[in-house]
Amino acid sequence: MIRKSEICLRTVPSRFAVCTAIAFLFLSVGTTRAADCGNGVTLRLSAPETGQGSLLLATLRSAKRLSEVTGKWNELAVPFWEDPLLKGMEKKQSVVAGDVWRALLGVDLEKPAGKYQFTVSAPIRTGETLSCTVSVEVKEGHFATESLTVKKQFAEPDPEQLARAQAESKRLREIYEHVTPEQLWKGKFRLPLDGDFKGSNFGRRRVLNGKPGSPHSGVDFPAPTGTPVHAAQSGRVVLAEELYYAGNAVIVDHGLGIYTLYCHFSEMDAKVGDIVSAGTVLGKVGATGRVTGPHLHWGLTVERAHVNALDIVKLLGGK
Ligand SMILES: [Zn+2]
Repeated sequence: MIRKSEICLRTVPSRFAVCTAIAFLFLSVGTTRAADCGNGVTLRLSAPETGQGSLLLATLRSAKRLSEVTGKWNELAVPFWEDPLLKGMEKKQSVVAGDVWRALLGVDLEKPAGKYQFTVSAPIRTGETLSCTVSVEVKEGHFATESLTVKKQFAEPDPEQLARAQAESKRLREIYEHVTPEQLWKGKFRLPLDGDFKGSNFGRRRVLNGKPGSPHSGVDFPAPTGTPVHAAQSGRVVLAEELYYAGNAVIVDHGLGIYTLYCHFSEMDAKVGDIVSAGTVLGKVGATGRVTGPHLHWGLTVERAHVNALDIVKLLGGK
């Protein structure tokens, strides 16, 4: 189907900063959308609309080699990476891919529903930058509410405990605000547990000991204490310590603003500064911090947006 939509593509003589809207075409193929950006460049999102706490994959293809591609989403720069794997796959299928670049867009769990724009730009020749904008509709998430009973100190922390928890959440925000410019991973993201463990509960609104808590920003995998927890992909360990709510927790920086978080370990096998591979054991499942029983809490943050970690396995996937 080809129809007009809110795609604006324009060639911007960067020195004069004059934007000339030329035309727009919008291709809708199943649940994906592609924008023809002109100059042999197309931009495709993994879904035309999305929900709170979701991840979108943007793929930009160019007939000619591009020296760089950058995006803007949530008022933040979105780094793209070149995808040699995809190029290889497409060559096999006899599709001429040209240059392929990809980026992840995080839709924060608490981002208000509405229409937002994702803009991509790339220099195409001296003094000229191609700019392409696609509209993304964010729908309100429908998350169940559940009532849990936890130790009193986690539902009603005293002022000292509260101050500790607030200082820790500020530190986590500071970690997530840092975007490592290099891509520290290659290939697929995997689930953090081997075997048949199922992750769920993302986004649930929680009532703790009768009081409303914040939405659940991770995926919980109930598993026996001692079950090994594996890094979802390669990266650098940037936090490995006991936190008030998260218990023994590890954060891996995968580069390009992508971080995975693993909580409630009984034992930690990683330390800050470790360079890990996909599958490296970071620790063992436990019940430290605010829990109702042994489980792994697995979180994913992409350019500061808290999103469902299972989405990265679906989009860049494989177990
Ligand atoms: Zn959890």
